[in-house]
Amino acid sequence: MASDLEEKILLLLQNSPEGVILQSELWKILDSGSREVSRSLAKMAKRNLILREPYSDGGRKTFKVILLKKKPKIELDDILWCCCFTCHDLSKCGMGLPISPEMCPKLTISLRNEMIKMKKQEELKKISSQSGDGDAKEG
Ligand code: SF4
Repeated sequence: MASDLEEKILLLLQNSPEGVILQSELWKILDSGSREVSRSLAKMAKRNLILREPYSDGGRKTFKVILLKKKPKIELDDILWCCCFTCHDLSKCGMGLPISPEMCPKLTISLRNEMIKMKKQEELKKISSQSGDGDAKEG
């Protein structure tokens, strides 16, 4: 289980543009001891959450801390299909309640339609990549 410091480091890396921060900057940002940060980073590296690469920052040796598994960002378009956002029963709906996602026909239809749409998109991608292969072989 990740410690508070590890959680903070992960959050910082997650929010950095490339998922990279210098170790020397982490101490300053987190206002923590260098040993504490180093220990946390070593543990995180063991769990393959990050990678540390030696780096020279204006002659000072430090490490580049690289996040290995960046969480995919969810775009609004990715979830707009869900009928729950416009549902009048949203405030009354929940697991174990009379109105629940498990028993909701609207959500079932919404999910099924989205799955059909995704399947069609995958098929189209497959077809276009196959026709691209064909072109490459012919040309
Ligand atoms: S699961 Fe069904 S009832 Fe519940 S909020 Fe979504 S659409 Fe509404």
